[in-house]
Amino acid sequence: MQDQNTNNNDDKKPEEFCYICHRSEKDAGKMIHLPNNISICEDCMQKTFDSMANLGFGGGTNAADDSHNLNNSDLLNYGFFNLGDLSGMIPNNKRQPKKKTAEKKDKEKSVFDIKKLPHPHEIKAKLDEYVVGQDQAKKIISVAVYNHYKRVATNTQDSIEIEKSNILMLGPTGCGKTYMVKTLAKLLDVPLAIADATSLTEAGYIGDDIESVISKLLAAADNDVEKAETGIVFIDEIDKLAKKKNTNQRDVSGEAVQQGMLKLLEGSEVEVPIGASSKNAMVPMTVVDTTNILFICGGAFPDLSQIIKERLNKSSSMGFVSELGDKYDKDENILSKVTAEDLRKFGMIPEFIGRLPVICPFNALTEETLCRILTEPKNAILKQYQKLLALDGVNLVFSADAVSTIAKKAKERKLGARALRAIIEEFMLDVMYEVPKDDNIGTVTITGDYINGKGAPLIEMRTDEKPVINGTNLNI
Ligand code: ADP
Repeated sequence: MQDQNTNNNDDKKPEEFCYICHRSEKDAGKMIHLPNNISICEDCMQKTFDSMANLGFGGGTNAADDSHNLNNSDLLNYGFFNLGDLSGMIPNNKRQPKKKTAEKKDKEKSVFDIKKLPHPHEIKAKLDEYVVGQDQAKKIISVAVYNHYKRVATNTQDSIEIEKSNILMLGPTGCGKTYMVKTLAKLLDVPLAIADATSLTEAGYIGDDIESVISKLLAAADNDVEKAETGIVFIDEIDKLAKKKNTNQRDVSGEAVQQGMLKLLEGSEVEVPIGASSKNAMVPMTVVDTTNILFICGGAFPDLSQIIKERLNKSSSMGFVSELGDKYDKDENILSKVTAEDLRKFGMIPEFIGRLPVICPFNALTEETLCRILTEPKNAILKQYQKLLALDGVNLVFSADAVSTIAKKAKERKLGARALRAIIEEFMLDVMYEVPKDDNIGTVTITGDYINGKGAPLIEMRTDEKPVINGTNLNI
């Protein structure tokens, strides 16, 4: 009887690839067939069994030796090897983790068609719909992104090589750095990975190693290597990687991470596990080229303003010390005057700064900007509440006074726009709880007094009657 897995029609069947190493049958030799159309080459199967034997699985010490003569029924007897688990790790296309072929380069060109790539002013106009204020930052980013993807699309091989325009964003917390990157990735329809620099450590130490950010990007691109290679990686809290002062110990989570990131930022081929964040023998690997990945690093750089102030005061100290010292002390947007030298003093290594040529300072949000954030963007937070109540047939109105009071309170908390939601949640809880109780309520008006804890919102009923809720006067 012929074994059903024996392949007698090799010339008619399409070429098979190993699920784990992605080599073709031609390169890797005969495939072992498993259920669900999974094929694995003998090398990978051997490695898998070797590593399981080392881990003490399999109930025998000679699992590795026995596997030289494997047949399919032996394989299926290893119940701990759940092939179903592998399905999430398999890349969409059966690409091999090899150097790029000419065919792939052609394909790459079509990912971003230079003619269709939006111009900087168009990118900025789109960003304007979501991100309020930060005009200078939006301009810088639009140009940097445009240049970056132009470079990707043209893929020029001539003597003038366009350098990468990785971006360094500086600005206080809650001013829209992450939000800007997220919006950008959505508009450009490219995969985005967001990582926190504080969780990264030098390879070999506890924590995520630096290459794990590329694994995240690959996951965001649904394991499509080509898509990932033109994606965006955002590394937040980058200021936490500053060199520690006065320490004799090895700085595995600071300076060493900066060192480790250099190659990644510049462009290199990184071997990453597919569908997992750590490398081990069971996880298939693939190679991702970071040359065309746009890296954006962001941080609040809290002590940097002091360094900038000192420099500015020093350079203008000829005779006007006291006057100018005051001037810079009050400047909330002092970060916009940053230079590479200031960053070096802060603790970033020069090689690292050199690989983030586009410096993009964000302004602290003013009360006026906070008011606009509440009302203007497409998905502005107040619009969201209005929509929620509209579903109950209730018209929610925020008076101008209410909006400015919320903004004022948020500004006091010094958390940027992050504070807005928390403040709104506090006073909207009662409204969202009480209003659905009464079907006759037609309009609810939130006033500045209500936000300040004086009284209740103004209620108008659907009919002419206008009763009082929570004992306040009504807006008649
Ligand atoms: P950070 O600068 O700390 O990365 P985020 O981008 O995470 O701050 O901002 C927090 C939230 O505040 C965002 O999700 C967004 O809703 C809102 N936000 C912040 N800045 C702006 C802005 N300029 N325009 C619109 N919304 C903003």
